[in-house]
Amino acid sequence: HSEKRTFPPGLTKRYRVTRKVLGVGSFAVVKECVEKSTNTPFALKVIMKKAVNGKEHMLTTELNVLKWVHHPNIVSMHEIFETTEALYIVTDLASGGELFTQLVAKGNYTEKDASKLVEQMLNGVAYLHSLDDNQIVHRDLKPENLLFQTPQPDANLMITDFGLSKMLSHQDDVLTTACGTPGYVAPEVLTRKGYGKPVDMWSIGVITYVILCGYSPFWGEDQAALFESILSGEYQFDEEYWSDVSKEAKDFIRGLLILDPSKRMPAQGALQHPWIKNRNPDHVDLL
Ligand code: ADP
Ligand code: MG
Repeated sequence: HSEKRTFPPGLTKRYRVTRKVLGVGSFAVVKECVEKSTNTPFALKVIMKKAVNGKEHMLTTELNVLKWVHHPNIVSMHEIFETTEALYIVTDLASGGELFTQLVAKGNYTEKDASKLVEQMLNGVAYLHSLDDNQIVHRDLKPENLLFQTPQPDANLMITDFGLSKMLSHQDDVLTTACGTPGYVAPEVLTRKGYGKPVDMWSIGVITYVILCGYSPFWGEDQAALFESILSGEYQFDEEYWSDVSKEAKDFIRGLLILDPSKRMPAQGALQHPWIKNRNPDHVDLL
């Protein structure tokens, strides 16, 4: 297999890279690998340096930060290998697939399940946003970057792909289809006025909306129309799909889909919102 020869020797010494491709993103191909000494499977993210476009220095700095990030709702990095062409990042394996895939299969989630999923996202994001010296803004939160740790129905949700987006894309990329459908992007990113923590909170608002009803709050025939829709900040809770959804859920979404970033709930605040905090405890189900 010709590809095998291109893996750095340090990597192949410790890991066996399998043929299984776990996913393909905008910048990376993710494969499965197995740590030889323990037979433990991991994910191997291969990023071609072409994508970094002369910002290698930034990439190295950021990767050093990301190595210290450890939280149950975040895909951790274990090791990084580098060649002149590519970066090889060994991370936790999330074998349950993307939230996106489950969402498509289910159509939408019950409120209770949605609240649990959103709480896990918030826990991960609150942690990233609170890191002392190096607060990390994800900037690319969307169902494709939310992975289940295992295939079990109650699997832990983990955020992937954080921190890298600002290095791997020119700001312009967000305005092109190269990055996929930018339906989750905050308005201030589109106008290039802001890239702070509230950017992630907007995305969580969009994700919450989508997982409750199965469609997006902002919409357009083409990309220009979609941007216009996002920039207007206007969206509806259409009776047909939202009449049975609680007012707490709608209030939660309203607290996030606010044009002014400074008025959006921060992650810690969102965790205190009644829709998250006062969710029926699990044991009620068992009675
Ligand atoms: P990109 O930065 O190119 O978007 P991602 O990190 O989002 O790359 O990975 C692309 C896809 O690969 C994800 O959407 C997911 O399907 C899969 N993937 C990424 N990380 C893992 C992982 N740790 N375990 C399992 N699958 C993963
Ligand atoms: Mg991705």
